[in-house]
Amino acid sequence: MAQIIDGKAIAAKIRTEIAAGVLELKKKGVTAGLAVVLVGEDQASRVYVSMKEKACNDAGIFSVEHKLSADTAEAELLALVDRLNHDPMIHGILVQLPLPSQIDTEKVLEAISPFKDVDGFHPYNVGRLSIGKPIFLPCTPYGVMVMLKEAGVELKGKEVVVVGRSNIVGKPVAMMCLAEHATVTLCHSRTRDLPGVVRRADVVIAAVGRPEMIKGDWIKEGAVVIDVGINRVGDKKLVGDVDYAGASLRASAITPVPGGVGPMTITMLLYNTLESARRSVAVV
Ligand code: NDP
Repeated sequence: MAQIIDGKAIAAKIRTEIAAGVLELKKKGVTAGLAVVLVGEDQASRVYVSMKEKACNDAGIFSVEHKLSADTAEAELLALVDRLNHDPMIHGILVQLPLPSQIDTEKVLEAISPFKDVDGFHPYNVGRLSIGKPIFLPCTPYGVMVMLKEAGVELKGKEVVVVGRSNIVGKPVAMMCLAEHATVTLCHSRTRDLPGVVRRADVVIAAVGRPEMIKGDWIKEGAVVIDVGINRVGDKKLVGDVDYAGASLRASAITPVPGGVGPMTITMLLYNTLESARRSVAVV
């Protein structure tokens, strides 16, 4: 049976380290600060934002939430982002997506200072990642890399197959694995013979958004499986993109859903905020 890579436990360990780092920085007179901007009433976004706020409080990070109405004009949001860019108490800015349709999301993300872009979505940071000199790594793929490291998985020379090429998960995680000297294949909806490609993988990273699409018999004996997918089936049940029961019979290690990659995302957001605050001390 596969070793379970326990995201909850890894996240808890790293959050303890972050809290210690935040305390250390406070002794130097700096409190790490995160601003979260929420526009509109999207229920899921509200839940994420309150989870982020609680996680900040637990870690000792100062957090401010800016709740704007759904009819907020783009110019108003851009003005807020500009104020936060210049606010010395704020080291990280996160604009919760999705934004209402009257607002150009790209324009807003590009207005965030790349040096406070703790989500790592600004094109400057995407570019820095792709040239191997990152400033902020996007949180979910960063969480995947930390899990692999904590599980003792060495990527050098390995075949990594990433399924899904989104800007927030698939593409950046592929870049990060490349930086660790893996041989990376990035698959998507037009990939021919996906089962055949996945069968080559020493490490499979699934970020598709389709419940249990990756079958157990696609997994090479002894492969490591990281399942980023979070899919709600029926009323309450959450499942990943991988058939967990089938894949566990062949994999050497696997992440569960829930309790796998999920808890890592906010953890890495806290980590990025702390890192940003540390840099602000270094340049003072
Ligand atoms: P997107 O919908 O943005 O991207 C999905 C990708 O999967 C696309 O590249 C798409 O290909 C590819 N795809 C779709 N169908 C197939 C198929 N049949 N075969 C091969 N590839 C396919 O999703 P995200 O990256 O935003 O999210 C992926 C999953 O991860 C979701 O379940 C989401 O909920 C979860 N997630 C979890 C997070 C966490 O743990 N905290 C954070 C972010 C996401 P194409 O480009 O060709 O359309």
